[in-house]
Amino acid sequence: MLYDMLLLRFGEITVKGRNRPRFEHVALKHVKALLRNYPRTEIRREFGRIYIVLNGEPAQAIIESLKNVFGLTSISPVKVAVSRLEDIVAAAVSFVEEASVKEGTTFKVHARRVWKAFPHSSQEMNHLVSKPILNACPQLKVDVHKPELELRVEIREQGTYLYSEVIPGPGGFPRGTNGKAMLLLSGGIDSPVAGWSAMRRGLEIECVHFHSYPFTSKKAEQKVIDLAAVLSKYAGEIKLHLVPFTDIQTSLAQTGQDNLIITLMRRAMLRIATQLAERSGALALVTGDSLGQVASQTLSSMNAIGRATDLPLLRPLVMSDKLDIIALAQQIGTYDLSILPYEDCCTLFVPKSPSTNPNLRILENVERSLTDLPQQIDRAVEETETILIRPGREIKRKSSAEEEVVQSKWF
Ligand code: ATP
Ligand code: MG
Repeated sequence: MLYDMLLLRFGEITVKGRNRPRFEHVALKHVKALLRNYPRTEIRREFGRIYIVLNGEPAQAIIESLKNVFGLTSISPVKVAVSRLEDIVAAAVSFVEEASVKEGTTFKVHARRVWKAFPHSSQEMNHLVSKPILNACPQLKVDVHKPELELRVEIREQGTYLYSEVIPGPGGFPRGTNGKAMLLLSGGIDSPVAGWSAMRRGLEIECVHFHSYPFTSKKAEQKVIDLAAVLSKYAGEIKLHLVPFTDIQTSLAQTGQDNLIITLMRRAMLRIATQLAERSGALALVTGDSLGQVASQTLSSMNAIGRATDLPLLRPLVMSDKLDIIALAQQIGTYDLSILPYEDCCTLFVPKSPSTNPNLRILENVERSLTDLPQQIDRAVEETETILIRPGREIKRKSSAEEEVVQSKWF
């Protein structure tokens, strides 16, 4: 079917009062950025509603890209008819005919006369429109209570809007409307999903990744850049901080505390991420931890690790099952990248039996014995390289010394 407009609905349930216009404004900015790829479209605001006038641009492709707009609760493709009885009836009949409904589908017309000068009431219009539809489509059965197909007919002076489908949007809050957080992005399955969940709650995120170059490869790094590029589809623009972690890892390994090394590494990561967060005004850290998944994610480990930062530590996946996380990773488009086999810095030093119940006092003693550790942490922060990733564009790679351009194959 060739639709004329898309009707967009934003956070109706949760967003009330004075926040509403601000949220709508942010989500609309995101929509407008996506519509740059469809130059004939126009945005129209009418009586608190927002429409995209398609002017011949493809509804389906636009709906697909709108699924990245947080704060959007649903989308309805709309057909427009001239507000005259015979035109409305003709449009309604072809609307239902083109929907090619199965035998026995239940159906109802829900007309609403917004334009009071129109000669027929809403109630009359329900009959005047549904009769010819039933004649043209005898496979339909009327059910006014719970119809499978409900044709909405909104009669306005400038035109009558017909629609039936309500396509769910991603929901949540528009991007950046709930503040900023720093996401610890590994190359795994979980942390990209955690980042997506945080963004869906309206958090702007910056990403931090720890690498052990040259022990970890450039391919592993590109994988993380590509993951951040997928997240940038939702974020609009995303910063990725690449932190050199080799020296710290080597020092921690030299303590001989094999079973505690993962815990010690995580604590060092949190300390660095905290400094980076403070620099960029992020008020929380986000990780992909899920309770009980691995040794470093037992309650006892989380407790020992979490004490290394004063910032709130958000773990969106903490109560999620792995299969649910995998399904979400597939849905948001990070899964296929995440399962690429490149090594992570943490896999370099995987001990035989990582502690599931690390002792905080021992951890603190080991850290104290490493007199260089605070300086190493500061140096890692100083030597961090930051990349700005924008969807659909080349990735500019900024370091203090040079500027390099990295291509992301994802756009
Ligand atoms: P993921 O799938 O996100 O890697 P995981 O189940 O493999 O998670 P861990 O490897 O124990 O779990 O990591 C726990 C969390 O610590 C990750 O979700 C991520 O937020 C953070 N993390 C781990 N390694 C790194 C890294 N190299 N750079 C940045 N963050 C990391
Ligand atoms: Mg991992």
